Amino acid sequence: MTVYKDRIDTIRQQQNIDRDTLAWLLETQEEEVLSYLKDSAREVADAVYGKQVFIRGLIEFTNYCRNDCYYCGIRRSNPDCDRYRLSQEEILSCCREGYELGFRTFVLQGGEDGYYTDDRICELVSKIKELYPDCAVTLSIGEKSFASYQAFFDAGADRYLLRHETADEAHYRKLHPKELSLSKRKQCLWDLKEIGYQVGCGFMVGSPGQTVDTLYEDLQFILELQPHMVGIGPFIPQKDTPFGTEQAGTMDQTLRLLSIIRLLHPHVLLPATTALGTIHPLGRERGILAGANVVMPNLSPVAVRDKYKLYDNKICTGDEAAECRHCMAGRMKNIGYEVVVARGDYSLM
Ligand code: SAH
Repeated sequence: MTVYKDRIDTIRQQQNIDRDTLAWLLETQEEEVLSYLKDSAREVADAVYGKQVFIRGLIEFTNYCRNDCYYCGIRRSNPDCDRYRLSQEEILSCCREGYELGFRTFVLQGGEDGYYTDDRICELVSKIKELYPDCAVTLSIGEKSFASYQAFFDAGADRYLLRHETADEAHYRKLHPKELSLSKRKQCLWDLKEIGYQVGCGFMVGSPGQTVDTLYEDLQFILELQPHMVGIGPFIPQKDTPFGTEQAGTMDQTLRLLSIIRLLHPHVLLPATTALGTIHPLGRERGILAGANVVMPNLSPVAVRDKYKLYDNKICTGDEAAECRHCMAGRMKNIGYEVVVARGDYSLM
């Protein structure tokens, strides 16, 4: 057994990684190593989820946001962001269309929009659950109090996505204005877990100031939190933000990290994200082949798609939901995977 294989097998067996091994895996240019990393991660994913890929219908229901994150195109101080919010009826109509297309998870994502009070979110969630009791509802609407999270959960929400963005204090400061804090972000994730949600954390790959050391902290945080989902995708500059002229993250680094995360946390629900599909035409396929097992096609109405501009050049903004759904099925089939009609819950089997 060659040394590099031993090193990768050890990550897989111990479900842990040291800082030097991480640095090596992020920096090596040896094709043999990279292909062994990728194949090992895919083997682990196949053992848990087989050749199935779960789909989530993403509904970007508001781009109003009270926060001012330096990387994000819908930050409050971006005057060039054309603001919209969908009404409850519009959201329900996205769900109806999505259900017919075989989606059994709806992800409601948005900025932190004061219009969507806890009562409105609860009403929306309970309506969706009443109409589609066999579907999971995932919320991704930022930082709220324990009581709010509890209320959404009681209304029927199943899952919650809240990327921690970076687990390094100094790096967090570089990405966010001072009113936001890493400790608050982490506390939200612990709260969500305690309430009983399936929880997702995550980060952007290649965000300004990211280093091997900050990534090492991200992985340690994932190991500590043991989330059900981890969302990672490349950072992509949005021209109207303070980071508008920064370098984008790469597909290569994102794929390496997807594989490492799969080895560290075999059962995790791991999406090949839209951002990954944005920096490379086959980014999502490569993501699945590197160990991801979830894709999140867009269900938002075409009229608002290009307004939810977290970053520039986002793909699929002109396509109807049905086109995205069928396109995704075809893409997965091309690489030997099958999109399934299922909630796609976290599995310990
Ligand atoms: N308001 C919600 C949803 C945020 S948008 C929340 O706070 O969780 C979802 C994710 O998009 C963010 O967590 C961030 O990691 C990612 N994102 C934002 N701007 C981005 C950019 N310029 N490039 C890539 N990903 C970005």
